[in-house]
Amino acid sequence: MSNKFYSGFVSLVGRPNVGKSTLMNYIIGEKIAIMSPKPQTTRNKIQAILTKPDFQAVFIDTPGIHKTKYKLDDYMVKAAETTFSEVDAVLMLVEPLGRILPDDENVMERLKKTKTPVVLVINKTDTADEEKILRTVDVFSRAYKFADIVPVSALSGKNMDELLKVIKKYLPVGPKYFPDDMVTDQPERQIVSELIREKALRLLRDEVPHGIAVEINSMKKRPDRDLVDIEAVIYCERESHKGIIIGKGGNMLKNIGIKSREDITSLLGSEVNLQLWVKVKKDWRDSDFLLKNFGYDFKKI
Ligand code: GDP
Ligand code: MG
Repeated sequence: MSNKFYSGFVSLVGRPNVGKSTLMNYIIGEKIAIMSPKPQTTRNKIQAILTKPDFQAVFIDTPGIHKTKYKLDDYMVKAAETTFSEVDAVLMLVEPLGRILPDDENVMERLKKTKTPVVLVINKTDTADEEKILRTVDVFSRAYKFADIVPVSALSGKNMDELLKVIKKYLPVGPKYFPDDMVTDQPERQIVSELIREKALRLLRDEVPHGIAVEINSMKKRPDRDLVDIEAVIYCERESHKGIIIGKGGNMLKNIGIKSREDITSLLGSEVNLQLWVKVKKDWRDSDFLLKNFGYDFKKI
């Protein structure tokens, strides 16, 4: 029996549509949405944090490695290569097609520059027969020296336990970097709540003396389309303030929603369905939800 704790960073790479978001969602139990980030604006963003009794794996997103053909982002390629060297393991996701696509070649080419163990994750095994899967294992293992090869279905959950065991194998003994209940650092959430707060304050002018706070209750991308559902709560200190924020016939709240949605839409690059609620919370400024909302202190990666 060992009571050592293991922790580390895992980078996830793979072509668009290969199932990265689905896999992340499955791993962290569908508790949160993974925003599909715009690669140009993303550098080593934390995608998900998995905390088990004996280990913590922090999954980080790898910026635009597939864009190299367009030449415009050498910088991103550099960032990706740096990421690969700094993490404890890389998960490379592919589909069971029985062959290697040019994008996969491209990723393997970059991975050759690192000493980090690379686990080949063959996803969507529910869509292929045994022979196709074996052929996929075969072609990839000839092309690159993978530390492990794990066929899974992120959709059905098949063999995902095995994948977690494999991931744990590559984590060094280390501290719990993040609290148990934290599944992502969700930088978008912070930005979104700030945007709503800013719009509300501008529209309200100085009518709400003690100000407001905004908390994002949920933010979830629809799996089947480019639409993000967001539920946010505007907190104020008094019932009378609540009336002002809602406005006559709900007009003020509606305007705050419209203005906020415009900005959030361009921030996320997808359609947004925004639901706003107003709640009274006395002494909100002393409460620790604000801390959660605005001020997590992250370890630098
Ligand atoms: P990403 O672009 O790599 O993040 O890919 P997504 O996670 O968005 O998945 C792309 C599509 O593949 C979605 O329609 C998923 O439902 C589907 N998908 C993901 N994993 C699986 C799987 O294991 N089996 C099947 N059949 N479909 C999957
Ligand atoms: Mg995705």
